[in-house]
Parts: sequence; C-alpha cells; structure tokens
Amino acid sequence: MGLVLGLAAVLWGLGALMKVSTRARWGMIAALYVGVLAVQVAMPPAHPLRAALGGTPQGWAALGVAVAVVLAYRAGLGALRRRARRPAPEPSQPGTFRPAELDRYARHIVLREIGGPGQKRLKQARVLVIGAGGLGSPALLYLGAAGVGNLGVIDDDIVSNSNLQRQVIHTDARIGMPKVFSAAEAIAAQNPFVTLRPYNRRLDEQTARALFAEHDLILDGSDNFETRYLVNRVAAELGKPLVAAAMSQWEGQISLYDPARGTPCYACVFPQAPAPGLAPSCAEAGVLGPLPGVMGAMMALEAVKALTGAGEGLRGRMLIYDALQGETRIIALKRRPGCAVCGGGSA
Ligand SMILES: [Zn+2]
Repeated sequence: MGLVLGLAAVLWGLGALMKVSTRARWGMIAALYVGVLAVQVAMPPAHPLRAALGGTPQGWAALGVAVAVVLAYRAGLGALRRRARRPAPEPSQPGTFRPAELDRYARHIVLREIGGPGQKRLKQARVLVIGAGGLGSPALLYLGAAGVGNLGVIDDDIVSNSNLQRQVIHTDARIGMPKVFSAAEAIAAQNPFVTLRPYNRRLDEQTARALFAEHDLILDGSDNFETRYLVNRVAAELGKPLVAAAMSQWEGQISLYDPARGTPCYACVFPQAPAPGLAPSCAEAGVLGPLPGVMGAMMALEAVKALTGAGEGLRGRMLIYDALQGETRIIALKRRPGCAVCGGGSA
C-alpha cells in the first residue's frame, strides 16, 4: 500500500514539475490504480509484486468504488450549480420593471399614448390567443415582444411542413411538435420576461368558459366557423372583448367585438355560418403567406390599444384589407336587433 502511495506521490510531483495539467495528473494516478488492480486480480496471491503492493483485490476494488462514488457526486453537484447559475430571468413582480425590461420597452415608454403606465398595463394583462396558426403566429410573437406579460394559447394541431409558408412562429426543426409547445419555445426565446401557457387541446364550450374567465382579452385566430361562433358566444357571455380576424386568399378582415360595451358581436355581423363549400378553408382556397402576417400583427396592435386605451380601436368597425389590389377600407358595423348571442342591444 505504501509503495503505491509513494508512486502516486512521485507521479503527482513529476507532473507538477513538468507543468502537466491537474486533469492529466489525475489521469496518471487513475492509470496507476488500474495497473495495481490488474496485478491484484491476475497474479497469484503469493507473487512478490502483489505482496509488495499490499492489500487485497477486494480492498483495492472497494477503494475504486468509493472514489468513483465521490467523483459522481461532485459531478452531479457541479451540474446542479451550473444550472442554478444560468441566468433564468424569472418574470419580475407584477407592476415593477427590471432595468433590462425598461431598456427593452424603451420605444414603447417614449410613446405618449403608452408610456410607463401603458407598459405596466401590458405587463399585467392576460391575453388568450385561439389558434397558433397563420394569425396566431404573428399575433403571439408581437404580443410577447411588446411585453404582454401573461399569454395563453390553445390549439390541438401539430406543426406540419405546409404550415411553414405563413405560420412564422414555428420552425422546420419543430415539424411534428404540438403547435402550442412550438409557440411556447419561440416566445421563451423571444422574451424571457413574459409567460405563455400552452393548452394543447381543442376548444370546447367548457374549456372556453374556464379559460376566457382567466383572461382580459381574447384573440380569435381560429380557422373554422364552429370555433368562431363558440368563441363569440362565450366571450359575449363573460363580457370579454374579442379581437377577431379572418382571411382567405388575398383578403383579410379584422374587428373588435365587445357587446358588453355597446359594440356589435360577431354574430350580429355574421348571423349564420356560410353553407359548407361556400367559404372554403385556407387549405382548399389558398392564402398568401404574408397576409396572415399583416392581419395577425394587426390583431396584436389592436390588443395593445385595447389594453392601454391608446387611440381608436376597431370597436364597431371592420377593417378590410384587399392585398391583391393594395386597398384598405373600413365599414361601420351595427348591432343586429334580436341577435341570438348579444340581444342586439335591446336587452
Ligand atoms: Zn350580437
């Protein structure tokens, strides 16, 4: 035993003299240990070399196991420390901004219509986005970038190759991943000061009721009439303002429906879903990639205005964008007396 310790000390000392790295010196000692263990196991008990080294094979093996356990424990501890040290900027307290947040939102804060109070409202706001597709992608990215502190997104679809022509929140590497988780990755990478809750399921009546109640504002970027009518019904019932956009091929439309504050609801404007086949989906009719980018960014813009009170929102007005002709027009919307959803203002 003494001989081995002596050899180890000599190796360590020589290594130090030759300026060999600590790691390499530990490597030499490990090699010495392996050699000693090999002699202990391979040689007969009476062999003089084995006697000179001392100890028993079991003893040497036990020493090796003990050292391995200590090293594994240290490595585990080191990994934990590194993870703890990684800057994980947890969202700061509601209503207070860290210096990095003030810097990030500086271009908002200098805007007279938003300023510090507006940015604070954005940080405290809870916005739910229906669908992480063409409209939801830019809407979520801009809401997150703008510092809307609490985002939710619900969608039951997965990212597919044919989505990527317009659904810019997703990436080629995330094909096959549920869209809401792909969106959560993108938002986390974009802005560590906001949180996004992903709901990987189809919106039904019960889920809508529970989720809408937890949010201040609903953005509908869904792609089917069944969901649109459901979203409008529940939003109207709970008195939540609803920014809804839709598009097909080269044309998009957007409005803010808020019957609790006197505007029409979606069903006032579109009392009945078109007959199947009359309003083909994007998959059937096609849609220009940047168009949902324009309309989804407008949804985020209207959301920021609604949350901060800046400017004139699209309450009671519908903006229609004809991308092919490069024309925009606004039409006034009226409540429809006897509307099955909001009563049309007669109630
Ligand atoms: Zn209505």
